[in-house]
Parts: sequence; structure tokens; C-alpha cells
Amino acid sequence: MTSASSPFPYVPGVRFLHSPGPSHVPKAVQDAMTQQPMDMGDPRVDAFIAGCERGLRSLLNTKAADVFLYAANGHGAWEAMTVNLIGPGQKVLIPGTGHFADSWALLADAMGAHVLRTPYNEGYPIDIDAIEQVLRADTKNEIVAVFAVHTDTASSTTSDIAAIRRAMDASGHPALFVVDVVASLGAIKFEMDAWGVNAVIGASQKGLMTPPGLGFCAADERAMAVCNKNPAPRFYWDWRLRKSDLSYRKFCGTPPQNLLMGMQAAFGLIEKEGIDNVLSRHQLLAGAVHAAVEAWSEEGNVQFLCRVPEARSVSVTAILVAPGIDPERIRQIAREQFQVLIAGGLGQFAGRVFRIGHLGDLNAAMVLGALGGVEAAMESMGVAVGGQGVRRAVQYLSEHSKQAGV
Ligand SMILES: *Cc1c(COP(=O)(O)O)cnc(C)c1O
Repeated sequence: MTSASSPFPYVPGVRFLHSPGPSHVPKAVQDAMTQQPMDMGDPRVDAFIAGCERGLRSLLNTKAADVFLYAANGHGAWEAMTVNLIGPGQKVLIPGTGHFADSWALLADAMGAHVLRTPYNEGYPIDIDAIEQVLRADTKNEIVAVFAVHTDTASSTTSDIAAIRRAMDASGHPALFVVDVVASLGAIKFEMDAWGVNAVIGASQKGLMTPPGLGFCAADERAMAVCNKNPAPRFYWDWRLRKSDLSYRKFCGTPPQNLLMGMQAAFGLIEKEGIDNVLSRHQLLAGAVHAAVEAWSEEGNVQFLCRVPEARSVSVTAILVAPGIDPERIRQIAREQFQVLIAGGLGQFAGRVFRIGHLGDLNAAMVLGALGGVEAAMESMGVAVGGQGVRRAVQYLSEHSKQAGV
């Protein structure tokens, strides 16, 4: 039955949001966002902005990096990073990780940067030797920065950030190391200071459990020094103007107060659970999803897109389907018949892949529900997957789950 105001049928119960962003928003975050905005002189505004900055520094494991929050999505944060660090015609190296590295490269190119790439090998993480070779070949040190994506959400592959820093150091090249943590922060450990990462970009709607609309950059002293000398024209995004104690300057105008209230509440939840527990819960739930995909794969109709088990993301799993199977139809049936919302293939993976998100405000029962809906969708389409996916996930959880609250 459809209601007068909506063409979609009424659905009782919960819809399971398992897209790898936006992810499920906890009730505490929703509630925090329903507060009235405040007059900008109210010290409470400064307090929740400071709470967000503190929360980000703590998750990033950085003591002193400057944090800049924007009323923007991840693309906005990419643009902010690019325009603050790379002047027109200057060189930036973007290692291939799949769709999100491609998109960042397109954006940087459109902004006048000279973009160098290393190839993406489908199913594999970043080719670290290729980065080292490009840096060694740049004898005049013209490359200003390496822009690497930690977890590429389209290929569901996580690259080894500490190892990239070691290769950069081995090459002796002074380029800045910049990392996109949109899909990884809050799901897997990140050590900005210890790994020698000079700047990061991220967004609110994935591991940070907040609705879409907030992007951020963090920059260490070396990145700030490059920013200060960079001739690229800018105003709204400019870190030099935003580095201030005044909230109106920090945001180049009115802060996006309700999103910030939500993000502060999300950091409160992370603190309550304990960051180590948050990260081990992600590992556990990813293990359950991987166990199910392993079981489904045995019939030969689906398989992991990421071929390297250690590089499979704890945030999202991309699943390749055999030719002749339409992943968009799996998505549609999962959504409309089983109330499980999953993602499709992006870029080169469009029409070949579906993706199950498993990051943010999730527990074991939610993941089992999602796996059940996806398995049921495939079965109802006649895609043979053996019927053991949920069973294996249950088995995995019963063997590995020691933590309360999961
Ligand atoms: C989602 C995502 C982005 C883009 O974020 P938007 O908010 O959609 O602009 C960038 N990088 C990665 C790794 C992502 O997962």
C-alpha cells in the first residue's frame, strides 16, 4: 500500500542501512542534532567545535596538527586539501587505488595541478614500489605531495600507510604525505604522527556516524609551511584564514552548528565504548562478512574484489559477480523486498560489483540481518550461493566474539 504523500510502500520495522557511507546514524547523534542553533557568541558553540576538534585529533592520533572543519562532503575536503597545498602547475602524485584515487586525481587536475599517477592493479592495494620509483626519478623534487587513499571504498581495499611512509623516506624525497581517511577513520587504527603523515582529509558520514555534510582536513607543521608559501588563489578553503580562535573565522562564516553537535555526540559514543573496542568490533564484524562471502564464493557466482586477504577493508566489502548476473538487481531486491540497503559498483566496477558496508554504528545482529537479506535476495533471483553465508558468519561470530556489546 502506498500513502498519499509517498510513492513508496509503507514498511514496518527497521531498514538496514549498509552502504559504506552514509552509514547508520545512532539515536544519540540524531537527538543532539535536533537542538536549536545558538547565537554565535554563545560559549556553547565554541565548546562543541572544540569537542569535535579534540575528537578528531584523538582518533587521528595526533598531538599538534591543526584541524579544519568545513560545511562540505569529502569532495569539498579534497578540494580544500588540494588548493591549500598545490599551486597551479605544481606536481602531485596520486597512487592508484581504484575509483576514489581516480576521482581525487580528476579534481586535482581540474584545479590546475600537474597530476602524476601510479597504476591501479585491480584487486590489489597501492603498489608501494611504484611510488618509490616515481619519487626517485623526480631528482629536482618537483612533486609537492603524495595523495594516498587509505581505504578505497569502491575497491574495499586498505593500503599500508606506514609502509608508504617508509618507502617515501627510503627515496629521500621531501614530498608531503597526505592521506584520505574518509572511509577508514573510526574503523581501523590511524597514527598520523607515528606514521609521518603530514595532512589528512576526512568526512562525517562513514566511520564517524554523523550525517553527510561535514568534511575536515588536518595539517601538521610541514603541511602548514607548504600552505603558507602556496600561491594558489583561495579564500573560503584557506587554512591561513581559518586558523583562528573565533568560530566565525574558523568556518569562514556561520558554523554548521547542528552537524557539529551531532559529530560531538558521535565522539562521545566512541569515548564511551573505548576506541580499542570500536576498532576490534569493526574487525570482528568484518570477519563475519568475510566468512559469509567466502561461503558464497564456493559456488563460483560471486567473489571478493580484493584478492589480498590482509588488505580487505574492515569498513566495506566489494563483491564481484559473475558475467550475466546483475548486481543492481541484487541491490534492488535486497532493498525493496528485504529492507537491506547496500551499495553498487563505482567507476570501472559499475555493473560488476555490489558492496556491503560494515562500518560505524553496527553490531553483530545488524550485520547478520544484512547478510541474511543479501543472501535471500541472491537466492530469490536464482543466483546459487550455497545457502551457507549466514551460517558461516554465525559460526565466525560465535568463535571470535568475546567482547560485550557486540
Ligand atoms: C566517500 C569517499 C569520498 C568522498 O566523500 P563524499 O562525501 O561522497 O564527497 C572520498 N574518499 C573516500 C575514500 C571515500 O570513501
